Amino acid sequence: MGERYLRYRAGRPSPVFCNYFMTARCNLRCSYCPVRNPTGSPIFPFCRRTREVGTEEAKRMVAEAAELGVLWMSFSGGEPLLREDLEEVAGEGRERGMVTILDTNATLVTERRARNLARVFEVAVVSLQGMEEVNDAMRGPGVFRRTLRGMELLREEGVQVGVNFIITHRNYGEMEKVVEFLGERVDSIVFNPVCQAEAFRPRGREVEEVERSLLRLKRENPRLIYNSPQHLRAIGRYLRGEKVVECQPFDLHFSLMPGGELCGCFYPLPVGRLEGNGRELLERGRRMRERLFRECGGCANSSYFHVSHLFRAPPPALLLRRFSP
Ligand code: SF4
Repeated sequence: MGERYLRYRAGRPSPVFCNYFMTARCNLRCSYCPVRNPTGSPIFPFCRRTREVGTEEAKRMVAEAAELGVLWMSFSGGEPLLREDLEEVAGEGRERGMVTILDTNATLVTERRARNLARVFEVAVVSLQGMEEVNDAMRGPGVFRRTLRGMELLREEGVQVGVNFIITHRNYGEMEKVVEFLGERVDSIVFNPVCQAEAFRPRGREVEEVERSLLRLKRENPRLIYNSPQHLRAIGRYLRGEKVVECQPFDLHFSLMPGGELCGCFYPLPVGRLEGNGRELLERGRRMRERLFRECGGCANSSYFHVSHLFRAPPPALLLRRFSP
């Protein structure tokens, strides 16, 4: 980690974080999700076109990400548990020394699957969007209870569980209730504003309320709330319409789409397929970065924000800060 930091400071960065979106399939149909629904984002048409690679190719891509320097790799979707080879593919990353992170809705976790997942994942980030009534209105009947059960099973097997709460105009009033309810049930909670689905954003006075709640929650639960104070302020700026671009695609992070296309982040502007040509693709990505920033509209995604700020921070802060996207 120290070596990566010095390389970054010397102007020779190598990516440390990769999101692998293993599939665009999902067992749920959450109203605000641009992967499954036409919310106006280019993510939806892209996900309809891309075809998932098979197990061997997926493992090869994970191995190549490790060779490029990735330390933290998140396995996401869609719903990654729909891939029966998830553990085998993520296991490749674990064997190569990465911190492997499962990004899931947890509704498909059974006792047996939890045992298998615990062999390859250190951390699970589980989406939950409110207490039962609001969460299920946005995501489908029964989802809240199934999610809680899935989280419980993962924790029983020793996986660290964090909750990812996506702030929308429908659920911002649930943030405090969720923090109070989850306090003893999870290891951390991270807040992210809905993005790429403009119609779902809080507006006007709602944004002020979101900002007040977030700062209060962080003050009262500094360890439980994973967001840094800088990120919480960025959420407010983003929701007020500012174009927030505090990421470093291709230098510190990249993503892999289901078909093996390499992008700078979740935004679907691929620079090519990862086929033994990682360094060349990253270099091509750096040259396309201005175009990406023009097209994406900005975001306040916590993973990209935190990894970028971690490396911009002076060395003592780097040593003190925990990171798990
Ligand atoms: S600001 Fe744009 S380029 Fe940066 S992470 Fe967000 S969507 Fe990607």
